[in-house]
Amino acid sequence: MVIKNIAVIMAMMDEAKPLIDNLILTEQFDMFHKQLPFKVFTGKIDNLNVDLIWNGIDSKYNVDNVATQPATLATYLAITNLNPDIIISAGTAGGVAKRGAEIGDIYLSCGVFRYHDRRIPYTNFPEYGVGSYPSVDVSSIARDLNFKLGEVSTGNSLELIERDFEIIESHQSVVKDMEAAAIAWVCRLLGIPMFAVKAIVDLLDGEKATHEQFSEYLSLGSSNLKQAIIDVIAYCKGKTVADLALPR
Ligand code: SAH
Repeated sequence: MVIKNIAVIMAMMDEAKPLIDNLILTEQFDMFHKQLPFKVFTGKIDNLNVDLIWNGIDSKYNVDNVATQPATLATYLAITNLNPDIIISAGTAGGVAKRGAEIGDIYLSCGVFRYHDRRIPYTNFPEYGVGSYPSVDVSSIARDLNFKLGEVSTGNSLELIERDFEIIESHQSVVKDMEAAAIAWVCRLLGIPMFAVKAIVDLLDGEKATHEQFSEYLSLGSSNLKQAIIDVIAYCKGKTVADLALPR
C-alpha cells in the first residue's frame, strides 16, 4: 500500500516551529480531549498528508512536554485519530562521537529502539526494561538523501550518568533521545510502522556538558531537522513502506 498519511511526533516547539512555518501547517482544533496539551498541525507535501503532533506545554511547569510519558499518549492519540500509514519520531538528540556522530548530523533510525535507564534486576524484567522495538528499515532513504543510520537509545534524562552511558555503549547505540522508544512501543503494539529522524545537537563524549551543547546547537539542529523531514517525506511519495529499505 502506497504511503498517503504521515504523522510526525515532536516534543519541543523550538524543534517543530521551523517545519510548521516552512510547510505552512495549520493547527487543527478540538482533535483531542480539551484538557490534553497535544496540538496537531496539518498540511501537505505534494499529495502526501502530513500531521505534526506536538506534545504541547505542561501548564504547571510551563515547559514543553518532553520525555516518554507524553510521547506514548501522543502516539496513541495520533494512531487512533489520524490514521497514519507511518509515524516519524522527529527531534534533536545526543550523539556518540566515537561512532561517527557530529553536531548538525541527521540520523535515521535502524535496528531497534531500546532504553538505557530502565534497570529492573528481577526475573525476566531486565530485558523488558531495556526493550526492543523495531524501526522500519529506511536504508534506501539514508543512501539516497545522504543521512547517517544509527540505533537510537531512549531515556528520561537529558543529563548523562555513567551507568546510562555504559548501557548505551553495550548496545553500540549512536543516538540518545527522550521519546523514540516510547513512540516505537505504541507503534509495535498497534502495528504501525515507525522510524526516527534525529538531528544531533550535543555529543555524549564531547568536551562540554550536555545542556550547554544543547542550548548552543538547538537552533542549528532544528533547522537541519526541518529540511531533513521535508526531504524524507517527499521521498515517501508514491512509495510503500517496503520501498524505504535497500533491496537485499
Ligand atoms: N528544554 C531543555 C531541554 C529539553 S530536554 C533545555 O532547553 O535545556 C531535551 C530534548 O531534546 C528531548 O526532547 C530529547 O529527545 C532531545 N535531546 C537532545 N539531546 C539529548 C540528549 N543528549 N539526551 C537526551 N535527549 C536529548
